[in-house]
Amino acid sequence: METLTAHTLVIGAGAVGLACAARLARAGADVLVLERGGAIGTGISSRSSEVIHAGMYYPTGSLKHQLCIEGRRLLYPYLASRGVAHRACGKLIVATDAAETGKIAAIHALAIANGVEGCSLITARQAMDWESGLACTAALFSPTTGLLDSHGFMLALQGELEDHGGRVVFFAPVAGGALQVDGRILLRIGGASPLLVLARQIVNCAGLHAIPLARRIEGLALASLPQQTLAKGSYFGCQGKAAFSRLIYPAPVEGGLGVHLTLDLAGRMRFGPDVEWLADGDPDGLDFAVDPHRAQAFYAAIRRYWPALPDGALTPDYSGVRPKLSGPGQPAADFLIQGPRQHGVLGLINLFGVESPGLTASLAIAERVNAELAAMA
Ligand SMILES: Cc1cc2nc3c(=O)[nH]c(=O)nc-3n(C[C@H](O)[C@H](O)[C@H](O)COP(=O)(O)OP(=O)(O)OC[C@H]3O[C@@H](n4cnc5c(N)ncnc54)[C@H](O)[C@@H]3O)c2cc1C
Repeated sequence: METLTAHTLVIGAGAVGLACAARLARAGADVLVLERGGAIGTGISSRSSEVIHAGMYYPTGSLKHQLCIEGRRLLYPYLASRGVAHRACGKLIVATDAAETGKIAAIHALAIANGVEGCSLITARQAMDWESGLACTAALFSPTTGLLDSHGFMLALQGELEDHGGRVVFFAPVAGGALQVDGRILLRIGGASPLLVLARQIVNCAGLHAIPLARRIEGLALASLPQQTLAKGSYFGCQGKAAFSRLIYPAPVEGGLGVHLTLDLAGRMRFGPDVEWLADGDPDGLDFAVDPHRAQAFYAAIRRYWPALPDGALTPDYSGVRPKLSGPGQPAADFLIQGPRQHGVLGLINLFGVESPGLTASLAIAERVNAELAAMA
């Protein structure tokens, strides 16, 4: 079988892989992205809410906190400079009873501790004046939350990668690999034209497949690899004219941010994602169909803050699956960026558990990966 050599390989052409690849190429590395699909963004990145998160939900000092805020601050100017559609529409996190009022006050305190710009608690009256369809007892306003065209973003990253001499190789599924005695890593590429590639640096951005793939790298200590739990999130579209101009979120629930209203850039409303823990942790053969029976729970959750939601307005839309490093009943786990300090292998970076806010954080994750690899050189 043919063996190619490469300097830097990025596995996966989602938002995070492309952001890493573009950043490394901009720093002068010779970068190839290996993508098992036939197009960019066919994984988690094409099944998100497309929200630019502000950074108020995550424990202070966690990677999710730091990279969400750093990523957002990089993302808005990046999107503007590349002509990618986006809008800082702002969001309201609403309480509908006394317990939730306490929850949003706690989120406000965390927002201040996290250094999130401009978050303020507002009265129910003010929130309902802004958004006439809303019912709430109090609200937290986040002006820096927004929306982006995630596919346009990924295309811009691919363009930047190519401008710096890198490229994405499609239909290149990485089947496994092996650490070599000379410090390089050999990857086995399957598909119609199997081959071997020897590389100095590898960034594993395979999303839902990142952990199973790392398990197939011979020589990598299995004890360094975390357990993954998958949590599906379904969305329902909502017919009719948009009833709100800002994103509306309830108080968060275990495993997710609650069934929230997002708008797409054309102004259409959709609700979700909910949280459905999957018993099977295998990312192959996932069923992305949205079960219409879940609509009942959506109507109940949405009517807490939008009582006028008409019967029959919700229609099953799409779903996404979160690669989580914590399971039901456990505290939410952080992103895991694994370098030699964690697994002992020079030149290898694994990105695990990159669920929300991974899209927002992608440019900041890329900065970290670039700095880690530069420190190893
Ligand atoms: C329901 C849901 C809603 C979300 N909403 C938001 C949001 O509003 N805002 C936000 O900031 N974040 C959000 N996120 C998180 C965000 O979407 C992800 O963190 C981000 O898209 C992850 O990007 P990625 O590149 O790591 O993974 P992916 O986009 O999954 O990319 C991984 C790529 O690797 C490829 N691949 C896999 N295995 C192999 C292999 N063996 N060989 C070669 N290629 C391989 C896949 O085909 C895929 O293209 C959401 C996530 C979910 C699930």
